[in-house]
Amino acid sequence: MRTDLDRVRNLGILAHVDAGKTTVTERILYATGTTYKQGEVHDGTTVTDFDEQERKRGITIYAAAVTCEWNDHRINLIDTPGHVDFADEVERALRVLDGAVAVFDGVAGVQPQSESVWRQADRYNVPRIAFVNKLDRAGADLDAAVSSIRERLGVRPLVVQRPIGREDAFVGVVDLVRMRALTWDSGVLSTGPAPADAHAQRHLLEEAVAELHPAAFEEYCATSALSDATLAAALRELTLSGAGVVVLCGSAKAMRGVEPLLDAVVAYLPAPVDVPAVRGTWNGAEVTRTADPAQPFAALVSKVHVAATGRLTSVRVYSGTLRKGDAVRDATTGRVERVGRILRVQADRHTDVDVATAGDIVALVGVKEARAGATLCTPGAELVLEPPSVAEPVVSVA
Ligand code: GDP
Repeated sequence: MRTDLDRVRNLGILAHVDAGKTTVTERILYATGTTYKQGEVHDGTTVTDFDEQERKRGITIYAAAVTCEWNDHRINLIDTPGHVDFADEVERALRVLDGAVAVFDGVAGVQPQSESVWRQADRYNVPRIAFVNKLDRAGADLDAAVSSIRERLGVRPLVVQRPIGREDAFVGVVDLVRMRALTWDSGVLSTGPAPADAHAQRHLLEEAVAELHPAAFEEYCATSALSDATLAAALRELTLSGAGVVVLCGSAKAMRGVEPLLDAVVAYLPAPVDVPAVRGTWNGAEVTRTADPAQPFAALVSKVHVAATGRLTSVRVYSGTLRKGDAVRDATTGRVERVGRILRVQADRHTDVDVATAGDIVALVGVKEARAGATLCTPGAELVLEPPSVAEPVVSVA
């Protein structure tokens, strides 16, 4: 698999507790072939909830980064806690994300915690797409959920899928971007032609996109329609700028909607090279770094976890290249540490790798004292990383 920087997605799943974050994460790992046995939340076997305390409480406390692959892209999946008591963990996870899927309950719509996590993600400029989950449940209503996204979050929803069937007859979705019907039977996906009424729905989507995106507006005025390519490009730009929010739907538990969700992650959410340079300071001066493997190494410690394998220090690499055996300086304490091993974490397994480059999220062994929030860097090229800028959008829509 190619792992050019534009083929990496550092992804988080954000949700109110119980909206289905753990189940969505599980289904993503299953769909990408990372796990071969499906974990169910109720029996405590889910791979991201490997900590005993998490198993007992049934909520995700730690932000565990899991690497999986989809369509020639590497997705580093950061399972963020949804419980309000762990807001610090959410904030720390948000610092290392490039994009997120916000999961909403298809019955309850936007709930108080989904709103507070959404606001936190706004502060860190994290581009998001929305997944309205649990459409198989009695009382589930995509349109009501979309209205609550518009009203409570104050964003412009761009509905790119319509459900096929309601509640326990919910069998799949119409993909309005590629104009096809996707249905699942026992988790097996079939594709077919879009139904006739999808054209009117697509038209509404084109109209909504044209209203927000100047280049799409021009094409729409000239031809009264948008080409598939213009629509997809505009959806991506609107996602990156936050001017619109792509809305998908499904049922994670029934394994309906997960593959197109992964396609949307790849299509619309940013790669590490798409996000602005990170800023830091050293000796009172501002230092910036871009996601360039040739720059000096700089990484942020996102989590420290003591496991049977030793002390694991999870880091997000912002610039440069780290090789096994390299010395790094903790810019926060001044201490120099040696990186014994670099691990890529796949659910509850680890794979040793020789290098980690800008954009990667990996776990280090051998770093003995660095704490969560610390900056690790090449000795002689230090900086203390600051949170990403919170004021301006990631890119402006041309
Ligand atoms: P989290 O707290 O956001 O991580 O939510 P979980 O993934 O633990 O899900 C909460 C509950 O909702 C569990 O009992 C799941 O089995 C259930 N659930 C998750 N997704 C769906 C779904 O698509 N449909 C239905 N009916 N239940 C779901």
